[in-house]
Amino acid sequence: MRVRQRLLVTGVVQGVGFRPFVYATACELALTGEVSNDSDGVIIEVEGSEPAVREFAHRVAHDPPPLAVVESLRTEAIPPRGGTGFRIAGTSRRPGGRTLASPDVAICADCVRELKDPVNRRYRHPFITCTNCGPRFTIIRELPYDRAATTMAEFPMCAACSAEYRDPGDRRFHAQPIACPACGPTLEFTDGPNRLNGEAALQRARTLIAHGAIVAVKGLGGFHLACDARNEAAVARLRDRKRRRAKPFAVMVRDGTTAGEIAVVRSDALRMLQCSQSPIVLLPKNPAGRLARGVAPGIPDLGVMLAYTPLHHLLLGLPGDNVGPDVLVMTSGNLGGEPIAFRNEDALQRLAGIADAWLLHDRPILVPCDDSVVRIVDGAEMPIRRSRGYAPLPLALPVPIPATLAVGADVKNTCAVGEGRYVWLSQHVGDMDDIATLDAFTNTESHLQNLTGVRPEQVFADAHPGYRSTAWARRNAGTRPLRLVQHHHAHIAATMAEHGLGGEETVIGLAFDGTGYGTDGAVWGGEVLIGGYKDVQRFGHLKYVPLPGGDISVERPYRMALAHLFAAGLPWDADLPPVAACPAAERRILAHQLETGLGCAATSSMGRLFDAVAALSGVRQVVDYEAEAAIELEGLARGCPGTPQYRFSIAAGIADPAPLLQAVISDIRAGVPAGEIGARCHRAVADLALHWAEAARSASGLAVVVLTGGVFQNGLLLSLTRNALSARGFRALTHHRVPPNDGGIALGQLLVGAMQ
Ligand code: ZN
Ligand code: ZN
Ligand code: FE
Repeated sequence: MRVRQRLLVTGVVQGVGFRPFVYATACELALTGEVSNDSDGVIIEVEGSEPAVREFAHRVAHDPPPLAVVESLRTEAIPPRGGTGFRIAGTSRRPGGRTLASPDVAICADCVRELKDPVNRRYRHPFITCTNCGPRFTIIRELPYDRAATTMAEFPMCAACSAEYRDPGDRRFHAQPIACPACGPTLEFTDGPNRLNGEAALQRARTLIAHGAIVAVKGLGGFHLACDARNEAAVARLRDRKRRRAKPFAVMVRDGTTAGEIAVVRSDALRMLQCSQSPIVLLPKNPAGRLARGVAPGIPDLGVMLAYTPLHHLLLGLPGDNVGPDVLVMTSGNLGGEPIAFRNEDALQRLAGIADAWLLHDRPILVPCDDSVVRIVDGAEMPIRRSRGYAPLPLALPVPIPATLAVGADVKNTCAVGEGRYVWLSQHVGDMDDIATLDAFTNTESHLQNLTGVRPEQVFADAHPGYRSTAWARRNAGTRPLRLVQHHHAHIAATMAEHGLGGEETVIGLAFDGTGYGTDGAVWGGEVLIGGYKDVQRFGHLKYVPLPGGDISVERPYRMALAHLFAAGLPWDADLPPVAACPAAERRILAHQLETGLGCAATSSMGRLFDAVAALSGVRQVVDYEAEAAIELEGLARGCPGTPQYRFSIAAGIADPAPLLQAVISDIRAGVPAGEIGARCHRAVADLALHWAEAARSASGLAVVVLTGGVFQNGLLLSLTRNALSARGFRALTHHRVPPNDGGIALGQLLVGAMQ
């Protein structure tokens, strides 16, 4: 008996090869009917034998294309209509509906093969894509996803491309961004006076890079600054021009084999490197790697990514090309903390003082999207920056919420919109310290609304009175209610949410980070909070020390060391590295500030304690980026035994680092190496976490511990802490979907605000 069924599929089902999959499956099962995109998702009608229709629905639900996420599938029996064949209908549009946009996808193996194949018509085509790969989020203006709604709209397909687009048997069937050398975008090279196009543009850029030049290369989500990572002078010039003394540069290589020559790549890391998101993966350097020292100075890790667009493969050279650099520095095309450049004119202007030349193309990038960064801790993925390849994939919320905007925090900002059981986190916006970033924030927020259809009825922000994100929320909330969320409460809620904890669940939250505004006006950051989304109680914290002059003390860890010595009642002896590093005049002012409290805020920051220890042990006195000193200390500490470990003295939940600091000083004087001192500190902090957890368990009966905050990006500390907790029967929850740093704050804000 013939039956007809209508299926409504929602989730990530547009731009991921879903319609071609539906077509192929229907054909295989000899079903007739049609499939169309709709702003609610994908609508399918199939007609045929009853078992075949059943099998079809089963495959849609359980065996969709690799990049698709089927969120829901509704089926409905409708009267059979007869007819022959299966067709892909046009797009229909209904107001109020929602589909999910796909993130950008790294070039697939089939396209790489064609790129290298001299007889393929897309041989060496820098814009080769198919239904399984290529740009999505960064070129989609609005949904439903069709070529006309992307920045490829201005490139009409040639006859050959449109034949592939219409051929159900082709890999490019209904792939929206496809093109070829005849109809697609073209490369352009310029160094000011000279202009070249196409292959000549590419070759000139490669030659320049091989000779030590810095070339701005237009990528998927913005410009990179590229240079030869083995050329010390080129890397030094890039640092100099970018005004970036030490912050590590990421590098790009063509494949896992080359990655293995410059870094230690285990199988879990290789999988991460090769996944369709293609993030930067932080890996231990291979000492035999022969990279320029300036690529990632002072730290043991290296950020590595694989070529993820056809242009990247061409830049690194295909078989038969002149041999060029096999490892490229690929750092964001921006100056200092500015947002990444993504428009040609903007890049030509803003990168003029940095780049020697530009490799451009004429496919517009609609929204910027920085590379994502992940690290692997104990075999599991931990996001450091969730951006290209991930945004705007939604996360599921454990509890439904009304349409809401959360603006995040001021550092490593991301914002989020949520509605019902979905939350969409934006791509990385950056540090909210200049006008350009605020503009980028505004654009990000409105684009996120466009793509998701969420029209926020309320706005949540950090409780910090000085945050620019909070000020933005005040300016833009209009008549909508604005709710303020305490920073560390948001960190803890973010961890709970990504683990799917429900609305009534409570945990022991350990939030260790650099800075967050506390409910008492102090700068928090070494916090034990017990509770859930609705509210938390402060159970313990690091003892307050005076933070003299705010940001200056973040940039100069020697000041934090002196503040900690002062608070511990320890003398500023001239043989201690931070005392020696502090100019006499500054030391006098500092002493006055600390004694009077003038210009000092009280802080319980764990990040600042790590800074102080790094300075005390002589690792680093002045930093180029937040936590540089602590990251170096972690690097030195890896592999050191760390025994005997140091101790905090703890009374009524408040941990005083004085005994630890005293022990550090004795060890320095006894000639104990900085790495060993670092290891003893790491073990002491892990032990403190365990102590706090035990005390909180006795008081509350809870056994679930959340580890969150920027300090837990420290792989050594995270691993030590989690192992200590597990050994004592705790369930330790850490971050796998959103970063432990402030890039994950917006998710927590949504839940805390919504549940209050
Ligand atoms: Zn492909
Ligand atoms: Zn074409
Ligand atoms: Fe934080």
